[in-house]
Amino acid sequence: MAEDAHVTVPWLEGPLASVAAAHRAGRLPHALLIHDSPGAGGDVLAQRIAQVVLCERVQSTPCGQCTACHRVASGQHPDLVHVHPTEDSRQIRIEQVRELAHEIGLTSHQGGYKVGILAPADALNRHAANALLKTLEEPAPRTLLVLVATQPSRLPATIISRCQRIRIRPPSRAESIDWLRRTRGSGDWERVLDVLGEAPLLAARLDPAAVARIDDDTRRTLGELSNRAADPASLAERWSRSDLELRLTCLENWITERIRRAAGVDADSVKPHAGTHLPRARPESNIRKLFELLDSVRELRMLLDTPLNRALALENILRRI
Ligand SMILES: [Zn+2]
Repeated sequence: MAEDAHVTVPWLEGPLASVAAAHRAGRLPHALLIHDSPGAGGDVLAQRIAQVVLCERVQSTPCGQCTACHRVASGQHPDLVHVHPTEDSRQIRIEQVRELAHEIGLTSHQGGYKVGILAPADALNRHAANALLKTLEEPAPRTLLVLVATQPSRLPATIISRCQRIRIRPPSRAESIDWLRRTRGSGDWERVLDVLGEAPLLAARLDPAAVARIDDDTRRTLGELSNRAADPASLAERWSRSDLELRLTCLENWITERIRRAAGVDADSVKPHAGTHLPRARPESNIRKLFELLDSVRELRMLLDTPLNRALALENILRRI
């Protein structure tokens, strides 16, 4: 997002400074792999790195003020190519990688670098990864590829070995809260991060009051559902119309809490004398069902961008609660 590129994110400054120093020293490799944590800012770091090589002013870090920095931030720099998964497949396809290779092989508009950002790179399908490997093996001069991945282990080892890896250290809860307060103002950010996990960049796009309201409503409704006091079909219809992604996150949390609780019962049951009235088989089969439910919710989340009957898919999950 445009505004993100100009926001200072403290835990990204260290990696950014290292890349800028390598660039100044003429030691910048042709390919970087940012190992991101979800919502920790990998996309922002990739943009800032593009600014490092495209910025018009020579400074220790990109100025964020010049025309080039602004164009990078708005995704409109002629020497920067973004590659994202296609909406229908959620994969990065071979045609996209070929187009990228062609684009960055052309002479730069400004006589400088050509940059390609692939995010998330773990969405490269096998054919696309093979095509990318060719570009990595024979990089054109003054080109930089930046791959962003939360699960780099899903990339072929041949690709990983040709990239210099940058690990984003996930921010502590205190760092995230401090950053959210400074950039977004007051609000119950603690609660937002409880719901989302340590994903401050994701949290920054949400309204804390709305997150709390939806989390409360989801929990209350799931309680009713497990007591057979709610109708799965009408609930699925309502949830699929708005805030479905956040609802699914709340649902995942709710299931995870139940798994923890069931595992606690299981741990007690193996203590001496505790097994008589709590047979091991019951909590274990409950846990298995809960894990299956969790898998189904995660699968649905993966398919959200595809042409899918969301209400029906969600209803099938809610019927199992
Ligand atoms: Zn600049």
